[in-house]
Amino acid sequence: MDEYGNTGEERAARRDEAVRGAVERGLLGPDAPIVGLLDVTGIRESARELRAAFDAVTAPGTPVLHAFAVKATPLVPVLRLLREEGIGAEVASPGELALARAAGLSPARTVLDSPAKTAAELREALALGIAVNADNPQELDRIDGLMRSAVSRSPLGIRVNPQVGGGSIGATSTATETSKFGVALRDEGAREWVVRAYLERPWLSRLHAHTGSQGIPLALMVRGVEETYALAEEINRRIGRPQIDTIDIGGGLPVNFASEATSPTYTEYARALRAGVPGLFDGRYGLVTEFGRSLLAKHGTIVARVEYAKSAGGRPVAVTHAGVQVATRTVYVPGSWPLRIAAYDGKGRPKSGPEVVQDVAGPACFAGDLLAEGRALPLLDQGDYAAALDTGAYYFAHHYAYNSLARPGIYGFVPDPQTGGVRFATVRDPQTLASIVAESGGAHVGALTTLHTPGSR
Ligand SMILES: *Cc1c(COP(=O)(O)O)cnc(C)c1O
Repeated sequence: MDEYGNTGEERAARRDEAVRGAVERGLLGPDAPIVGLLDVTGIRESARELRAAFDAVTAPGTPVLHAFAVKATPLVPVLRLLREEGIGAEVASPGELALARAAGLSPARTVLDSPAKTAAELREALALGIAVNADNPQELDRIDGLMRSAVSRSPLGIRVNPQVGGGSIGATSTATETSKFGVALRDEGAREWVVRAYLERPWLSRLHAHTGSQGIPLALMVRGVEETYALAEEINRRIGRPQIDTIDIGGGLPVNFASEATSPTYTEYARALRAGVPGLFDGRYGLVTEFGRSLLAKHGTIVARVEYAKSAGGRPVAVTHAGVQVATRTVYVPGSWPLRIAAYDGKGRPKSGPEVVQDVAGPACFAGDLLAEGRALPLLDQGDYAAALDTGAYYFAHHYAYNSLARPGIYGFVPDPQTGGVRFATVRDPQTLASIVAESGGAHVGALTTLHTPGSR
């Protein structure tokens, strides 16, 4: 149990009810063999835990904006739910900004980071008053030009890479020596360049770092924030006034994919930050955070029907409808991104029985399309369901169009105390075949056959 009295068991019980309810309701079945389910209760709890954790360590009156990293779960109803819980949005593309705006997020609660912002994106962000963190000197040049041509309310900062090192997963380690993100602080002359950039631009009021994601130990995250804070202090000292008034500490709290427990918790991270970087919390700096995975991962479940149960080389193989199209990282890099799998029977009830080592395969046409290899589970039969747990972030909202597999429907659920069951709401409709054809150039069917080299034929 965590400090708010939430237990993983409660979350698991809500999930079991939701799987059963989805089968009963026909959201999941022979004609809808895969769905994504979102636990609205759990998402609200995590948002509240995040806010409470930082409220507990910041001086009274400190402005704190928790901006959800939209890339983790780019779904408009999720952004709206988080908005209702007081959470803003961190966006990194025109598409993500459009999602945040569609969810009703105000520019004041939106932060734009991305390593490849176009001139047009920057102009729009500054016109709207959205906070922008410049990634590199060339981007800052562009911002200079925009600031000369029009006034902007946008809080502006620079993203730095404290180069404190990586974690266990290279692809999500952003503070390595050669990371593509931000200004690499330890490179020759870089720190002095950053200080001068602030000295010459009184409108630069923020400093940003995001030093990693899954696989980064808490202590290393704290060190990244510590280095960033030390730089802000140095800049303000050299300028002789508190020009940097807000530090954006990024996101990156890792998620425990090995069991039901939430670990580490926001409270643990906030306390570790407070202990390691006390000056950050004494009221002189406003704070921005950008958590993604840790807010949503535990609250999403992919459930897929077992279409066929077979055996190969003595190993049982359950062929399901969830594979690389919804669990891309897990399928391609299984060692770094293992998922827990839960077995349900054809009525959506948790399956019991002796555990058997088996493969849980996806529907895509390549041999490596496995959700789990050699996993001990109650033996999955035809018509059962396999659930991939903790998949609320970077999974079913990150469809990969391999084999033109349709994007599954996504449904949010809450317990229904009247019936003891659950109530559902559609977050995203299942993709239609017409939509797949349209996305695949259906409107341009003759484009290539009518394209001739002039003079030939
Ligand atoms: C991806 C990203 C985040 C969120 O990371 P999580 O590991 O999902 O918390 C935050 N800030 C930036 C700049 C990012 O790129």
